[in-house]
Amino acid sequence: MSTQQHPLGISFEFFPPNTDVGRDKLVGVRDALAEREPRFFSVTYGAGGSTQDRTLNTVRQVRESGFTTAPHLSCIGSEKGQLRELLARYRGEGIESLVALRGDLPSGMGGIGELRYANELVEFIREETGDHFEIAVAAYPESHPQAPNLDKDVENFARKMQAGANIAITQYFFTADAYFNFVDKARALGVEQPIIPGIMPITNYAKLARFSDACGAEIPRWIRKQLEAYGDDSESIAAFGDEVISRLCQRLLDGGAPGLHFYTLNQAAPTLRILDNITG
Ligand code: FAD
Repeated sequence: MSTQQHPLGISFEFFPPNTDVGRDKLVGVRDALAEREPRFFSVTYGAGGSTQDRTLNTVRQVRESGFTTAPHLSCIGSEKGQLRELLARYRGEGIESLVALRGDLPSGMGGIGELRYANELVEFIREETGDHFEIAVAAYPESHPQAPNLDKDVENFARKMQAGANIAITQYFFTADAYFNFVDKARALGVEQPIIPGIMPITNYAKLARFSDACGAEIPRWIRKQLEAYGDDSESIAAFGDEVISRLCQRLLDGGAPGLHFYTLNQAAPTLRILDNITG
């Protein structure tokens, strides 16, 4: 069935393209996804501010769709003065939403900066700009890779929400119960804000396996084995991926998830196929 007007909050994430071809292609992707009336688009930010200009340029391009577009912003490796300037720049552009992160510093890339964790960044944004920005933060249903355990990570997550975040977006995952368990734990610590599941369409096994290792998302054995068996057969991978992810989304929505945030990797088709398979 078609989901032309999604009553739930769907949102779509892009990365800033680094070629002219990528930039031109993103216009079509943006327009195709804009037809689904997202609550917002977001644009990622390179560690240590490495994509600062490209992120802002991409935000400008995506905002031409008329939909709210939130730049991601990370604090690791930055001084408060730099962050203050960037916030002023975003305000000057009329930007009203941000995704606030600690980020990861590639090895050998300078000091950690003045703010060590995302909760400190959220506090800083609130101190500097009051309620101007709607702030989203990251959540990890399967635990952040550096956290000693899930309970500690949820405590740290709750700190960010208490510091003034409005919503959370999760790392992607393939096990619906990991999400429900995380939400229960967060609610038990008094977190009331919406926690939106992050959804990664499956299109390429090698890339997915690499990403998942780096960010600590678990690919269940039965999914891994099936994807491995398809080898280079990208059509079968896409068909299986659509089925698995559509079913995951449906379970999440049926279980009360307040929306879905798609890691589009700057492609419209896989996300649109999933949206066509689910009912709000
Ligand atoms: P934090 O919330 O600071 O957590 C990092 C670690 O520190 C966790 O293990 C946590 O348990 C621990 N911790 C947190 N607070 C404290 C505290 N006060 N005391 C002690 N320990 C603490 N990366 C990018 O570079 N660019 C992006 O655009 C980007 N976008 C993302 C979007 C989403 C939705 C998600 C889920 C991730 C994104 N990331 C991005 C990845 C993210 O930057 C990394 O996962 C990073 O390692 C952690 O960032 P964070 O904001 O979650 O950190």
